Amino acid sequence: MTPDVTPVATPGTLASPHQSAIETHDLTKRFGERRAVDALSIQVPRGVIAGLVGPNGAGKTTTLRLLLGLIRPTGGDAVVLGQSIHHPRAFMHRVGALIEGPAFYPTLSGRTNLSTLATLGRHRHADITELLQTVGLADRGRDMSRTYSLGMKQRLGIAAALLSDPELLILDEPANGLDPPGIIEMRELMRRLRDGGKTLLVSSHLLAEVDQIADWLIVLVGGKAVYCGPAASLPGRQSSGMLVATESPAQLDVVVRIARDRGYTAVVESGQARIAAPSSFAGELNRLAMQAGATLVELHQVQSTLEESFLQIIGSIN
Ligand code: ATP
Repeated sequence: MTPDVTPVATPGTLASPHQSAIETHDLTKRFGERRAVDALSIQVPRGVIAGLVGPNGAGKTTTLRLLLGLIRPTGGDAVVLGQSIHHPRAFMHRVGALIEGPAFYPTLSGRTNLSTLATLGRHRHADITELLQTVGLADRGRDMSRTYSLGMKQRLGIAAALLSDPELLILDEPANGLDPPGIIEMRELMRRLRDGGKTLLVSSHLLAEVDQIADWLIVLVGGKAVYCGPAASLPGRQSSGMLVATESPAQLDVVVRIARDRGYTAVVESGQARIAAPSSFAGELNRLAMQAGATLVELHQVQSTLEESFLQIIGSIN
């Protein structure tokens, strides 16, 4: 089925800058002939974890760098916390970022690294003890940062990004290279920060990971947003269906025929019938199957994963 790719937010439908943490309007960045970001119009509401996903080269890092004022757009504009990216000084103290691996003095402790950065950045009010606690490094704060695991270094990087107590955190692939416990710790940290009222924009190619944490999704392909909206509303998410098992394999064909007669797409897949029908069809299916001599031994609803929806969207564009 070709997914109905939801149009991304257009300037007319965007929330006001006071509600949005980020808005972009036809934001464009060309490198020579290549459009890394191509007339991008997206929005990120405040107080969410927004996942920025897309294939390699889709323009994720370039978008983040534009939003941080690290590079200048070739065209269009973006508003971060109510301020244009053409004047990054107006909002930089309210934004924390982790782009590429964080760099620390390896022979200094995590605590000393943070206090040095706080002094350099004039973050006089930063409470280093509390920050170490927030990122789960309270026990290891006095150890040299070179002894930290990759996950701990990433979390120290986030602590550094939090020194100014920013409203918005922009993280480029924060879970990259982490082992499963490291990924879980990173996930919990991001949720804690969101629950504390911060907005997070997180790029990632780990779709299963984004699926677990993102409230809001932006899908980039070729520098353009093909979806921008609530994660739960991603096309394909609702077009889930049901998986049905029957007493004998032959009865699966009966079930598939019944579903198709009712106008639903149905296939036999790994010894089960997969039916693209709403849950309201379950009772009718059960009754009709029984009348036709088929016994359902299992019936459960399934929802597409982000990966499946993503592949559908990409497939519908190519
Ligand atoms: P990945 O997931 O592989 O990191 P991405 O989605 O972050 O990719 P970008 O790094 O933003 O994508 O790159 C988008 C496109 O712009 C790519 O084709 C890349 O080669 C190109 N690009 C990025 N930076 C530059 C640059 N400084 N000069 C020339 N081309 C660039």
